[in-house]
Amino acid sequence: MRDLSSQLLAWYDDHAREMPWRVSPADRKVGVRPDPYAVWMSEVMLQQTTVAAVRNYHRKFMGLWPAVRDLAAAEDADVMAAWAGLGYYARARNLLKCARAVVSEHGGVFPETNDQLLTLPGIGPYTAAAISAIAFDRAETVVDGNVERVMSRIYDVHTPLPAAKPQLTALARALTPDRRPGDYAQAVMDLGATICTPRSPACGICPWREPCAARLAGTAAELPRKTPKKKTPTRHGIAYVVRREDGAWLLETRPESGLLGGMLGWPGSDWRDAPAPTPTPPLATDWVALEQEARHTFTHFHLRLQVMTARVPLGVNPERGTFVAHADFRAAALPTAMRKVYDLAIVTLHPDGVAG
Ligand code: SF4
Repeated sequence: MRDLSSQLLAWYDDHAREMPWRVSPADRKVGVRPDPYAVWMSEVMLQQTTVAAVRNYHRKFMGLWPAVRDLAAAEDADVMAAWAGLGYYARARNLLKCARAVVSEHGGVFPETNDQLLTLPGIGPYTAAAISAIAFDRAETVVDGNVERVMSRIYDVHTPLPAAKPQLTALARALTPDRRPGDYAQAVMDLGATICTPRSPACGICPWREPCAARLAGTAAELPRKTPKKKTPTRHGIAYVVRREDGAWLLETRPESGLLGGMLGWPGSDWRDAPAPTPTPPLATDWVALEQEARHTFTHFHLRLQVMTARVPLGVNPERGTFVAHADFRAAALPTAMRKVYDLAIVTLHPDGVAG
């Protein structure tokens, strides 16, 4: 077992991916330690999001809030706006809650152990293990989709996921070394992301090609097996885009609980399974229904939003939402689903507030 981890660490020394939050194996060997705050932020951002998409957001956040105390003191709205486009907004709310808990309960210093990390908001078993291993070099077993794939292949495990999870986790734990566990955790992730990829693993250049059971059996590309997923359902809703004659936009902050909670959005109906959602316009006016729907896919469902637009005079009093002056409005700060609504509506509601 130790041989396997040593082989992988030797490969990692030469092939580690560079990431803004990472300390290279060479720097680590001369005593450079990762910033736990940067590692934690990367792990929260990487939940459900690719490394490529996270890089710029991570740089932006570290630039705006270089230390956990800076983030803890930030305005909620600024953090939510900076997060816009990264998706899964509960993560942004938890990011703030966690930063504040680290400051108020831990004196601004991230705890090191799995158990302590698990008490913090937004940190589940995977994230706790990843932070503990990567930031503090503790021998925790970090198991994500990449690691499950690699384990299923080197041991030729044919039990389908998710039933195979406990077995794959146990195999990963048995391989986790006491020496350089942080580098090892990142090495398995890198192997899964760059060589042992889902469809066409590059076995010819893999540091584990000799012992790999799936390569020997010729089953690598079929693994891991997965229990077929249920079809993703579609939900339907209506979004109301209102432009006042002075150019202001009618927006509302979505309820804290639920999808896009706490984010700015267009007033709208509930999102239901029925193809004809119940209209809930924020004010009485002549609505124009756009032909094209806004479509967006969340983790568990597809959303189709009918877009209704209206121009209204000064002095109207909507039942919901608040008018935001055009000068203060930033489409880029909207979550992606709401941004897609804007992109359709803007064709009829010209940005100068007069034409169109
Ligand atoms: S030999 Fe191939 S299947 Fe096995 S771990 Fe390496 S890349 Fe994956």
